[in-house]
Amino acid sequence: MKKAIATLAVLLLPCLAAGQKAPAPAQVVQAVRAYRMENEDRIMRELCEFLAIPNIASDTPNIQKNAAHLMEMLEARGIETHLLPITGRGPVVFGKLLSPEAKHTVILYAHYDGQPVDPAAWTDGAPFEPLLRNAAIEAGGKRIPFPVNGAGLRGGYNDDWRIYARSASDDKSPIVALLAALDALRAKEIPLALNLKVILEGEEEAGSPNLQRTLELHKNLLGADLLITADGPVHQSGRPLVFFGNRGDIGIDITVYGPLRALHSGHYGNWAPNPAMELSRLLASMKDEDGRVLIAGYYDDVTPLGEVEKKALAAMPDNDADLERELGIAKPEGAGKKLAELIMEPSLNVCGLRSAYVGSQAQNVVPDKAEASLDARLVRGEDPQKKFDQIAGFIRSQG
Ligand SMILES: [Zn+2]
Repeated sequence: MKKAIATLAVLLLPCLAAGQKAPAPAQVVQAVRAYRMENEDRIMRELCEFLAIPNIASDTPNIQKNAAHLMEMLEARGIETHLLPITGRGPVVFGKLLSPEAKHTVILYAHYDGQPVDPAAWTDGAPFEPLLRNAAIEAGGKRIPFPVNGAGLRGGYNDDWRIYARSASDDKSPIVALLAALDALRAKEIPLALNLKVILEGEEEAGSPNLQRTLELHKNLLGADLLITADGPVHQSGRPLVFFGNRGDIGIDITVYGPLRALHSGHYGNWAPNPAMELSRLLASMKDEDGRVLIAGYYDDVTPLGEVEKKALAAMPDNDADLERELGIAKPEGAGKKLAELIMEPSLNVCGLRSAYVGSQAQNVVPDKAEASLDARLVRGEDPQKKFDQIAGFIRSQG
């Protein structure tokens, strides 16, 4: 969050109008850091108030409360705000902040809804009651009280402390970080050199079923030179990441049918074809041992990376070995390529598998069906329908 505020502040300053002297990025970071330390308590309070509003996309009254609250937060910064309505859902919150002499416009995207949550399964208090810990839970962090009235308490929040609540990281903090960055620039009298627009969505975790249609209806608001998405992780090394694009995603469900009803495996095994085995065979035939997809033409439409992109990737910190250790991975896929390179390629992933029962519930059956859910990530140059047709064609060709 702290690094995010400084990063966002610098992002807002790529160029200044003629006649203005651009402050050096390092100076901006310093000024913004000073502001953040002076105002930590207020920034954290704003985040916690926002986190306390339940934000599941299908919870209409609450998701709309989030949007109304956001509108207040944006308007308090002088951002012209419009709620682009979606029936029964949270609107797209659109904001626009023009700078008198700016030549470029940047859109920042984030979402204010969160993953569905079962309050009974939430291990740390309640999902919409933010808690503070002195480190991440994985690192053994213990609950600590929020600093009482930290006004004037410089650096009162330690870098290792973590706030826990639904959407604390994904994706409400980036919104608060952006607004804090704007506050900091204004307080330090550093002019905004860009026109800034924001698109804040209220049903990203539900698959964004209305985003495209809603934005098309309000196309006139959207002109910009660049869209930056503020919905992604920090780098595994802890350093901030700037995203300039996302892969696309298509989901595919496969059901393989066996006999009309589950059959006793002692009576019918060896004779009745087993759908779980057929599905396993099918899935295994889709990729080689290095994770390369074997479906014909799967990589044909990929637009190759340019020199700038390749250079940026090569300059990224390489902590794959640490990650392998941390995650218990003996040998990664990718034939020696780095994680950063591999997530620039199209993918095909098995998200889940289901057939009859396992473990203590296992029964002596030849199952009646087996199901799998796949997701395929798409990169620049690829068409979702064509990709789907390739995968479906491959399945068909297996008989
Ligand atoms: Zn997200």
